[in-house]
Amino acid sequence: MRRFVVIGCSATGVSAAKEIRKKDPLSEIIIITEEMDPFYYKPYLLTLLLHRNPAKMQSDSEKLLAQFRIELISLRKVVAIDLARGYPIIRFENDEPISFDYLVIATGRRAEFGQLRKWQQNCYRLDTQADVQILANHLPHLKSLIVYGADELALRTVHTLRQLRKEVTVIHDGSISPFQMSDPLQENFFLRAITRQGATVKKIREIQSLTGTNGDQIELVTDSNEPIRANGIITAQPFAPDVHFARFAEVVMGAGIKVTADLQTTQPNIFSAGDCAEIIDLKSGEPMFNNGWRSAVRQGEMAGRNIATYAENPDAQLEMVTAIPPFFRDRVQLVAV
Ligand SMILES: Cc1cc2nc3c(=O)[nH]c(=O)nc-3n(C[C@H](O)[C@H](O)[C@H](O)COP(=O)(O)OP(=O)(O)OC[C@H]3O[C@@H](n4cnc5c(N)ncnc54)[C@H](O)[C@@H]3O)c2cc1C
Repeated sequence: MRRFVVIGCSATGVSAAKEIRKKDPLSEIIIITEEMDPFYYKPYLLTLLLHRNPAKMQSDSEKLLAQFRIELISLRKVVAIDLARGYPIIRFENDEPISFDYLVIATGRRAEFGQLRKWQQNCYRLDTQADVQILANHLPHLKSLIVYGADELALRTVHTLRQLRKEVTVIHDGSISPFQMSDPLQENFFLRAITRQGATVKKIREIQSLTGTNGDQIELVTDSNEPIRANGIITAQPFAPDVHFARFAEVVMGAGIKVTADLQTTQPNIFSAGDCAEIIDLKSGEPMFNNGWRSAVRQGEMAGRNIATYAENPDAQLEMVTAIPPFFRDRVQLVAV
C-alpha cells in the first residue's frame, strides 16, 4: 500500500490530503503538524485577542479526519527529509522517523523578525494559535505595545489593539519583502490607515537596543537615540518560509521550495504548495508566492490531485497554477465578516 505524507495541517495541507483521498480510496494518508491545536482558521487568529467567538476559528477536525480516513500526527517538528539509499524518510526533532512514498510539503511561513532577529525571544509573535494565546493571556496587563511592521498584518494588529484601547506605536524600517501580504507600493496607504486608527508611527533606520521583557517594561532605542517605551513588542512583519529541513532531500530552494506550475519539486515524488512554495510563473518566469487562505486551499487541492495522479501514472498530464489572486480581495471580504 502506498503512503502519502503531508507536512502541515492548515489550509494547504488539509486540502491536499482530502483531494488525495478523493482520488485514491485505498492508500495510507498521514498529516504531520508541529502544533498541538487541531486544524483552525488562521485569518481569525487576531480575534482571539478580542475574545470574540474564538470557536468560529475551529473546524471539526476529528470528523474531517475520520471522514477522509486521514491519520494525524501532531506535536512533531520535522527537521529533515532524507532520501538516502532509496528509502525516503521524514526525521523529527525528538522521535522515530517515518517513511513515505509521496510527500506534500505545506509548512507555510512564520514570522520574519527583520531587525528584531537578535531579540526575538523578547517579541510576541502571531504565527500560531498558541502564540496568539500567549499574547491574549498577557494582554490585560499590557497598557502599551510596540508593533513592528507596516503592511496588512500590522494594520490588522493595530486595529485589534485599538479596539481594546491599547496605546500603540508602530515602527517600520521601510524594508520590502517578497512576502509582504500587500503590495509594497501601497505602504503609504497602510501607514495612513494605521495612523487613522490612533497609533503613533515612527520610521526608523536601525534598532540599536531592546531591553526588558514583554509583560513588563521594555525600552527600544533607535538610531536617532530615541527611546520608545512600552509593555510589550509584537512582530507583525511579513512571514517567510522556514523550510531548511527540505535541503537534506536536495529539493531545490529559492526563497521558498521551488516548484513548477504543477506544484512538483525537483524530486518527482515531492510536491509543495501554499505559503511555503515558490511557483515559477508560466508567462513571466518570475517567482510567485501565495498570500492568503483561499488561494492556499485552492493550491492544496491542486497539489493533492496532482500527486495522486502522478502516483498512478507519472506520465499523466497535471493541472497547472496560472495565477495567484491578490491577497487584497480576500482582505476586503474578511473585513466585512
Ligand atoms: C495573524 C494572521 C492573519 C492572517 N489574516 C489573513 C486574512 O485576513 N486573509 C487571508 O486570506 N489570509 C490571512 N492570513 C494568511 C493565511 O492564514 C495564510 O496564507 C494561510 O494560512 C497559508 O496556509 P498554509 O497551509 O500554506 O500555511 P500555514 O497556515 O502557515 O500552515 C503551516 C502548517 O505547517 C505546520 N508546520 C510548519 N513547519 C513545520 C515543521 N517543521 N514540522 C511540522 N509541521 C510544521 C504548521 O504547524 C501548520 O500546520 C493570515 C495569517 C496570519 C498568521
